[in-house]
Amino acid sequence: MLVLVFTLILVVSDLVFYFQMQKVEHIGIAVRSLSVSIPLFEKLLDCSCYKTEDVESEKVRTAFFRIGETKIELIESIEQNGVINRFIEKKGEGIHHIAFEVTDIETEVERLTNKGFTVLNDTPHKGADEKLVCFLHPKSTGGVLVELCQSINPTAQKNKNPV
Ligand code: ZN
Repeated sequence: MLVLVFTLILVVSDLVFYFQMQKVEHIGIAVRSLSVSIPLFEKLLDCSCYKTEDVESEKVRTAFFRIGETKIELIESIEQNGVINRFIEKKGEGIHHIAFEVTDIETEVERLTNKGFTVLNDTPHKGADEKLVCFLHPKSTGGVLVELCQSINPTAQKNKNPV
């Protein structure tokens, strides 16, 4: 009986761990120009940008830095009228979003929708750095644009060393 109870506790705690947000995966920073901001952040963080990547679906070009368990994502518009340029026109360069890593993005979207949060895209789409992503509307999160991201291939991500 005791063994059964322990097993049940382990299974339940495993499930809770499986679905909850894991950590701040990255902080997204809106910049006017990567060619100016990459050297600035390399100097600030004392590490090299390990990857730049265009995300066609969002019309942005991104640049990544790894700081321990977390990353910094610089984001530049690749279209004059893109979302990042519009953000910068309104608020200036700076923090654009906080991204949380989740193990099961669809379950997490369902949980947050049920709790009253507004999801900007119901179906997760492919974002930068091998992630499936979803955004929550800042109106429902106290003014913070929240990104949920799930590694498309968690094992490969874990073993991959930054270049
Ligand atoms: Zn992001």
